[in-house]
Amino acid sequence: MTLIDTHCHLDVEAFDADRAEVLAAARAAGVRSIVVPGVDAAGWDQLLRLCASDAGLYPALGLHPVYLDRHQESDLLALEQAVASAKPVAIGEIGLDFHAKDADRDGQLALCRAQLAIARAVRLPVLLHVRKAHEEMLGLLAETPVIGGVAHAFNGSLQQAQRYIELGFCLGFGGMLTFERSSRLRRLAADLPLEALVLETDAPDLSVASHQYQRNSPAYLPEVLTALAAVRETSAARLAAQTTANARRCLRLSAD
Ligand code: ZN
Repeated sequence: MTLIDTHCHLDVEAFDADRAEVLAAARAAGVRSIVVPGVDAAGWDQLLRLCASDAGLYPALGLHPVYLDRHQESDLLALEQAVASAKPVAIGEIGLDFHAKDADRDGQLALCRAQLAIARAVRLPVLLHVRKAHEEMLGLLAETPVIGGVAHAFNGSLQQAQRYIELGFCLGFGGMLTFERSSRLRRLAADLPLEALVLETDAPDLSVASHQYQRNSPAYLPEVLTALAAVRETSAARLAAQTTANARRCLRLSAD
């Protein structure tokens, strides 16, 4: 079994003490490759160094909407330069998060629009973080089409999912699927075309049911696979092969 964790923040401090062990445990669990998304300019160098140290780690670079306060105007130019020199697999994670009542929506829209333009210019896929803002995100993608990517931790409607798919996106599903109470999300994961699904952990955040209050880990990705196989009433082996092929297609990863 070969799995790809399409969204894991393996570069963050939460893994500083035991990153090699976490990676070894992920490998032992069948997770061959991990996409590591950047969230702010200050973190890109360390993220790139980490990914350069292991052929199965794929870097993405971006400016996360939730950390709007940390970003500066000059970070967009820095992103263009880092993308040109470091050749990440994607621009991300970028997006819109309107969950907080006082979210600076105009600031987020401008930041996301600028990063979509960079992704479009260099023909890279994007890793999208979208919360309570799918209509706005689909609007931005209509304005500035990109080659596709992944809508991470997808939690929109079936109709919105279909619009992302038409734009070349896969939908990322993670630990939330392992909770029985996630009935709406489970129904969505069951109804979507198999070709559109990719797996993710979003570690160290959003853990799986078996480790609910603990740090999440890419080694728990098989639990997401098992939950998805159960809701779709299909075999884990078939789903593993298909979601891995989907991730490679959506993110243009070579089959190694
Ligand atoms: Zn993330």
